Amino acid sequence: MADSSQNSSLPVLSNGPVTDCGGCGACCMELSVPPFLDDIDFLPLELQQEVIAARMEESTRAAQGLPCIWFDVQTLKCRHYEHRPNVCREFETGGDCCLETRERRATVLKIERKRSEGSQV
Ligand code: SF4
Ligand code: SF4
Repeated sequence: MADSSQNSSLPVLSNGPVTDCGGCGACCMELSVPPFLDDIDFLPLELQQEVIAARMEESTRAAQGLPCIWFDVQTLKCRHYEHRPNVCREFETGGDCCLETRERRATVLKIERKRSEGSQV
């Protein structure tokens, strides 16, 4: 999940098999807070506090469509990749859930592009 070290201008959808997260980050845009369970106990204290504080705002952030607080929208990378939750570690790049998430993200981008083209006419 979002270990993209590749070119961030790659399209979310690609024709071939998905083997890395370069240019994607779709799954990190569907969560507003890092999905820690008990594994939050292993985080450095300041990061635990950041995640716990963000949970208080989770529904507001989700309603606004904001990405995970650790997701860097410029680089499309996780800002604390080495500390990411187990759920993120286990999310299989190129697996069924990954492909479905990318498909949803591509649809959102398509709608946004059409809206922006419409507003320029
Ligand atoms: S949706 Fe798949 S390819 Fe995209 S960041 Fe997540 S795991 Fe990587
Ligand atoms: S913690 Fe990192 S890898 Fe997990 S959803 Fe957030 S940005 Fe993505």
